[in-house]
Amino acid sequence: MDECVAALSRVHSFLHNELVERDADIIRLHLHACERCMENFEIESTITEMIQRSQETAASAPATLTARIQAMRVTTRR
Ligand SMILES: [Zn+2]
Repeated sequence: MDECVAALSRVHSFLHNELVERDADIIRLHLHACERCMENFEIESTITEMIQRSQETAASAPATLTARIQAMRVTTRR
């Protein structure tokens, strides 16, 4: 359980490639071993992708979409 908390608290850094390789490996290993965290990770990575995509097309993306995605992010976080 503590491992899950530790893994999920670093998921954002992991997704943004901000972790050193050793820490990233720990997250990767945990995600493969833990179904619940993998599910959370998939949600987070999907949202991160959506945000990155909306930032790439920032000129055409309505501000409300970004706000909605950020609100979603809060509700999916434990
Ligand atoms: Zn876990």
